[in-house]
Amino acid sequence: MLEYAKIDTGFKDKIASRPGGERVKNCYLCGTCTAGCPVSSLRNEYSPRRFMRMILLGMKEEVLSSPEIWQCSQCHVCVAHCPQDVRFADIIRILRQMSVEEGYAPGDMLKKVEDIDVDLRKQRIALVEELTKEMSK
Ligand code: SF4
Ligand code: SF4
Repeated sequence: MLEYAKIDTGFKDKIASRPGGERVKNCYLCGTCTAGCPVSSLRNEYSPRRFMRMILLGMKEEVLSSPEIWQCSQCHVCVAHCPQDVRFADIIRILRQMSVEEGYAPGDMLKKVEDIDVDLRKQRIALVEELTKEMSK
């Protein structure tokens, strides 16, 4: 629910002032980002479009305290699909930085999530290598 006392009307401007967030106000909430997002397809709670709506409404506290901002895998599919070049993957990166800066998430959260992503990529390389071993024989 929208709590007017908590609304920060300058939230989108703060995002727009950081590298990668410049086009945040160009979003017209079409939902193309959510439709193509591989995390959204596995997890109903995760919706780039919903985050964009909350950002445009100024729901800073709800956005920065949401555990869902850490679910993005930074695949950039949303960036490739967006008709307005909003660059949602970069906006998520900014939201994470803000979340840590403003004390909603612990200081080492960015590093921990980055480590998980590196581990997953390593695992994928190893598993695909295993799968393709037979091909080179
Ligand atoms: S970020 Fe782009 S794809 Fe997503 S809702 Fe906004 S305009 Fe549509
Ligand atoms: S970068 Fe994040 S939000 Fe964008 S499509 Fe990939 S997982 Fe979804």
